[in-house]
Amino acid sequence: MSVPLHFQTVAELSAQLASGKISSCELTRAVLARTRVIEPQVHAFNSFDEADSLAQAAASDARRTTGRSLGPLDGIPVGLKDVISVAGQPLTASSKMLANFVSPYDATVTEKLKAAGAVLHGRLNCDEFAMGSSTENSAFGPAHNPWDLTRTPGGSSGGSAAALASGSAIATLGSDTGGSIRQPAAFCGLVGLKPTYGLVSRYGLIAYASSLDQIGPFARTVEDAAIMLGIIAGHDPRDSTSFKTQVPDYRAEIKTRRGPWKLGVPKEYFGAGLDPEVGAAVEKAVGFYKSQGCEIREVSLPHTQYCLDTYYIIATAEASSNLARYDGIRYGHRSKEAKDVLDVYQKSRAEGFGDEVKRRIILGTYVLSSGYYDAFYLRAQKVRTLIRRDFLNAYREVDALITPTSPIPAFKLGEKSADPLAMYLCDVYTIGVNLAGLPALSLPCGFTAGGLPIGLQLIGQPFREADLLAVAQAYEEAHEWKLKYPAL
Ligand code: GLN
Repeated sequence: MSVPLHFQTVAELSAQLASGKISSCELTRAVLARTRVIEPQVHAFNSFDEADSLAQAAASDARRTTGRSLGPLDGIPVGLKDVISVAGQPLTASSKMLANFVSPYDATVTEKLKAAGAVLHGRLNCDEFAMGSSTENSAFGPAHNPWDLTRTPGGSSGGSAAALASGSAIATLGSDTGGSIRQPAAFCGLVGLKPTYGLVSRYGLIAYASSLDQIGPFARTVEDAAIMLGIIAGHDPRDSTSFKTQVPDYRAEIKTRRGPWKLGVPKEYFGAGLDPEVGAAVEKAVGFYKSQGCEIREVSLPHTQYCLDTYYIIATAEASSNLARYDGIRYGHRSKEAKDVLDVYQKSRAEGFGDEVKRRIILGTYVLSSGYYDAFYLRAQKVRTLIRRDFLNAYREVDALITPTSPIPAFKLGEKSADPLAMYLCDVYTIGVNLAGLPALSLPCGFTAGGLPIGLQLIGQPFREADLLAVAQAYEEAHEWKLKYPAL
């Protein structure tokens, strides 16, 4: 049986669009029809605008008939996490604070997708202000995992993963501050890439923790991720941390770069708390690389035990500063009960923010306050340097690292929402990468006996995404996981 349009890849669909076998209108209608059926169960979207998507598709078809196609993404429906600005569209960060906010301008990644002809389809659900690991912190209700609707698709970019896995988009963008692309990709059986800090512009991304945030793609295949990255990467003078670097043709590069590579297995990533089925699937993947002639070395990242503490100090400190702008005055929710200006600040923030956001603002303000700054924030910054040094030391010996993405497969909705610490522990294998500013991706490496996807994490060297994608491609080519779809 042939694969329905909504489950095909960017690479496959762009070939059919180019040959005239299908039109963008046809494809977009198929995706919209799928979204209409699936969305009540999955809740991947905060909003979508069918007329707008169809108008973009018609424009793409019109371009193509006059021979002015804009490349592999032209006419393909792409969903964006609801923290990425699209001019004239709602932008909520899944928060009551921004429930009625309409974005006045395009993010740089949005401009780039538009210039590539993508059909921008929908605003995708996430944890409020990208804080969380399950989308349960969304003010508009959680997204559900298409592989098992009683479970989380992960977070914070859970909607981006759930929409793609269920066929309501052909590719999506998310943001990753501590694992928010890779963990949902792992939970939903997708490829998810967090680029090197500075490779993709953050202009127009709602800031959570600015020294950690990066935008990146979710895709069905490594090749699709390479196509997406090639479009969104590149220097942007509007983001002061954007790096001036040459953007290679990732899609072409992954076809030419062949191993064998030297791969490091960090021993700290296989300890207590790792689910045995996840551990076994990752060991098997390591075995695969070995069978391909790769040299496998055990390496040590000795400061791994401090990653969680360091992350939750730095991320909350930056969040407390970034979220100070939501004061009820300039934009966003304003309390109707307020009597004076201080009251406006206090009531608007009390009403507009959810519990997790408040918890992080309080924690972040505390670690930055005088008397505690040196003991917490300054010390965390020093430990962050040591964490980065661990990785750079490992890269003297190996080309890339191989680990589980998440210690556990998708957990039940409600299972951890009452226990913030248990939720934070989900991020142990992903946050080190953000603290060190490195690129990393998650790709499917099997299923549990209960049918839940398992993710393999590959961690690369700064700005060497082409190598990272090539290592992933070698695994993907030899396995069938990408051909599996949820039964939904
Ligand atoms: N789960 C982590 C957190 O809650 C990471 C979130 C993210 O990457 N945006 O902060």
